[in-house]
Amino acid sequence: MNSDSHAPVLVWFRDDHRLNDNPALSAAAASESQVLCFYVLDDAPEGLRPLGGAARWWLHGSLKALGDSLEHAGSSLLILKGSPSKVVEEIIRATGASAIYWNRRYGAAEIAVDSAIKARLTEGGIKAHSFNGRLLHEPWEITNQAGKPFQVFTPYLRAVNARPIKPPLPAPRRLKGGVWAPPILERAIPLTELGLEPSSPDWAGGMRQEWQRGEHAARSKLSRFIETGLKGYAERRDRPSQAGTSRLSPHLRFGEISPRQVWHSVMSAVDAEPGLERDAEKFLSEVAWRDFTHQLLHFYPHLPDRPHSSRFESFPWNEDRPALRAWRRGLTGYPIVDAGMRQLWQTGWMHNRVRMITASFLVKHLLTDWRQGEAWFWDTLVDADPANNAFSWQWIAGSGPDSAPFHRIFNPVTQGEKFDPEGEYIRTYVPELSRLPPALIHKPWEAAPGLLREAGVVLGDTYPEPIVPHGPARQRALEAFRSLRSPV
Ligand code: FAD
Repeated sequence: MNSDSHAPVLVWFRDDHRLNDNPALSAAAASESQVLCFYVLDDAPEGLRPLGGAARWWLHGSLKALGDSLEHAGSSLLILKGSPSKVVEEIIRATGASAIYWNRRYGAAEIAVDSAIKARLTEGGIKAHSFNGRLLHEPWEITNQAGKPFQVFTPYLRAVNARPIKPPLPAPRRLKGGVWAPPILERAIPLTELGLEPSSPDWAGGMRQEWQRGEHAARSKLSRFIETGLKGYAERRDRPSQAGTSRLSPHLRFGEISPRQVWHSVMSAVDAEPGLERDAEKFLSEVAWRDFTHQLLHFYPHLPDRPHSSRFESFPWNEDRPALRAWRRGLTGYPIVDAGMRQLWQTGWMHNRVRMITASFLVKHLLTDWRQGEAWFWDTLVDADPANNAFSWQWIAGSGPDSAPFHRIFNPVTQGEKFDPEGEYIRTYVPELSRLPPALIHKPWEAAPGLLREAGVVLGDTYPEPIVPHGPARQRALEAFRSLRSPV
C-alpha cells in the first residue's frame, strides 16, 4: 500500500475536458498533492465504440484546449495510447501515485472497464475516487416509485424538477503540477501523432470554419446564447435557418461545459430578467432530455444495437444501397432532406428539426434500418453521442422508449414549408435551388418549365427528381408496419 503523503495523485480525463465544475479535478487539487493529469486514447477499445471521424476531429481541438488550460493552471496533460487498464497500471507503477480521480461514465462497457480498474487498484492499496461530472443527476438517482427507471419523459422531468441541482464548482485556482517520471514520459505522444485530424483528404474545412473547440469557447457560447438566443428559444428552436438554439451539443458531448453549469447560468438569467421563464423552461427540458437518454442507455445498453420494442425485431427493412447513398450525399430530390444532410457533411452538425425530418425520411420513406442512419450520424456528427444518437433514432423509428408512433410520417415538403417558409435554409445548403421562389423551393418538381429554366434548375441534371414519391412511400411504410405482429 502506498501511504506516502507526498506521493502524487492522478486525474484521468475522459469526456470531461474542462477545469470548471470538474469534481474529479477539484477533489484531486484539494488533496494538496502534486496533480498529474492524463488522457488515454484507445484505438481498439474492448467493447467500447470507437469514435466516428467528426468526433475524432473535435477531440483533437478539445484535448489541445484542455492541455493549454492545465498548463496555465500549473499542470499539464499527458497523452498516451493503448488499453486504459494497462496504461493506468503503468502510470501508477512509474509515479508511485497514491490515488486516482475520475468522473464516472455510464455506458455498460465503460462501467465494466472502470470497475475492473478500480478493483485492481483497490487491491493494490491505491484509492480510486469517482464523481458525477457528466449529468444533472446520475441514472440511479431518478427512479419511479417502484425504484425502476422512468421510460416516459414527462414524469422523469417532473422528478428532475423536484430535486435540487448542485451548483457548479469553480476551477481549482492553482494545480500543484508534478514531474512525470521518464518511463511514462517516454510513452507520451504529441497530440498531433494521435492522427485525430484528417489530412489527405482534409475534409474538416467546413467544421473548422463553423466551430471553436474547448472550454473557453463553450463558456462564451453559453453566455452569448443566454444574452441573445434564450429569449424566443421556444419558438425559434424549430427554425433551421436561424441561430435559434445554443449549439452547445458538441461541447456537452466532450464535457467542455457541464449540464450543471448550463442549468445554473440559465436559472441566474431568469432571476435577473423576468419574462424568460417559458423559454428557459423549454431549453432546460432539452438539457434534461440528455440526462433522460443517458439513464436509458445505462439501464438498456442494447439501445444502439437492437430495437427496444421487440415487436420491431422482424421489421421488413429494405436494402437499397443507391437510395442510402443518395440520402447520405444529400441527393434525394427533397430539398429539406438534402439541405440537412449537406449541413451535416459540411459542418458536422444538423439542426434538430432537420435531424428528425432526415431520419424519418430514411426510416420511413426509404424503409432503411434505423441502424444505418445511426451509424452515419455517429461518423459525421461532431456531437455524436452514444445515448442521444441511439435514443433519437429509435424514437424516430417508433421502436424506442417513449417514441413517436411509427405512423407519424413526416411529409418533407410540408415540414420544409412550415419550418423554413422563406427557403433560406435550402438556399444556404442547396445553392442550385437558390433562385426558386419560396412557394416552390420545397417542391421544385411543381414549378413550371419556364420558371425552372429561369432559376437555372434542370431536374434530373442540376438537381435530382425525388428518389421516391411521397404518397406511395408513405403507404409502403404503413403496410410494413402493419405486417408486424401486435404487441403482446
Ligand atoms: P439546444 O436546443 O440548444 O439544446 C441544448 C442541449 O440539450 C443540447 O446541446 C443537447 O445536449 C440537449 N438536447 C437538445 N435536444 C435534445 C434531444 N432531442 N435529445 C437529447 N438531448 C437533447 N444530440 C446529441 O447531442 N448527439 C447526438 O448524437 C444526437 N443525435 C440525434 C439523432 C437524431 C436522429 C435526432 C432526431 C436527434 C439527435 N440529437 C443528438 C438530439 C438533438 O438534435 C441535438 O442535441 C441538438 O440538435 C443539438 O443542438 P443544440 O445544442 O443547439 O440544442
